[in-house]
Amino acid sequence: AVELRGVSVHFGRTVALRELDLVVGRGEALALLGPSGSGKSTALKAVAGFVRPHSGRVLLSGVDVTDAPPHRRGLGVVVQNYALFPHMRVADNVAFGLRARRMPRREVEQRVTEVLAMVGMADYRRRYPRELSGGQQQRVAIARALAIRPPVLLLDEPLSALDAALREEMLAELLRLRRELPDTAMVYVTHDQGEALALADRVAVMRDARLVEVGPTAQLYHRPRAEFTASFLGAAN
Ligand code: ATP
Ligand code: MG
Repeated sequence: AVELRGVSVHFGRTVALRELDLVVGRGEALALLGPSGSGKSTALKAVAGFVRPHSGRVLLSGVDVTDAPPHRRGLGVVVQNYALFPHMRVADNVAFGLRARRMPRREVEQRVTEVLAMVGMADYRRRYPRELSGGQQQRVAIARALAIRPPVLLLDEPLSALDAALREEMLAELLRLRRELPDTAMVYVTHDQGEALALADRVAVMRDARLVEVGPTAQLYHRPRAEFTASFLGAAN
């Protein structure tokens, strides 16, 4: 579903991403792990269209979207501390992308109800974001990303702002979502080994703007090829 071909991203003289090659298949969950500043968010932003690659191509379902703006890529995106629109009720936040796509009202209603139920927020549709806990806001952000039924969900540390108990709860929620949406690919940036282990089919480890190693989750944890992978995954355990 997602293909990065030799994608490099520069910010002035900083190289944030160096010739990244990565493929995420339909329905697959890939975790992006690596130290702070290694380029994880930049990789996600290149897929989302928030940053423009200096070189390389980004493909979605085989279509080259390197030059397409974010809203034309049809992806679901949840970034860290994703700000919901504060002046809009939960239901309107979730409906936003659907209305932008000119979906008929009744269908919008149905879809909003459906995705809010998916994240356990059906009873909160008339609340404002400030009337929700951090975890609830994050659920709404995930519902909003899911509303357009994206083939790919991009999540950048979606649980990092939450306390341990809420993280645990949201992780279970995400696992349930994966079962409910078996065709939806997921790219999941995290610092948390537990989240990667629980959620990901494959793990990609980054360091200094490069991909160090990518492989099935269990393989990376138990039989890493790169020494960096072993020390990085080991150190955090
Ligand atoms: P973290 O785990 O801390 O979120 P990360 O792996 O997501 O880190 P990135 O945000 O991708 O790291 O950043 C990669 C590099 O690019 C860093 O050196 C960072 O300082 C730099 N960088 C990222 N965004 C910008 C920007 N908008 N302007 C300039 N430099 C940037
Ligand atoms: Mg980041």
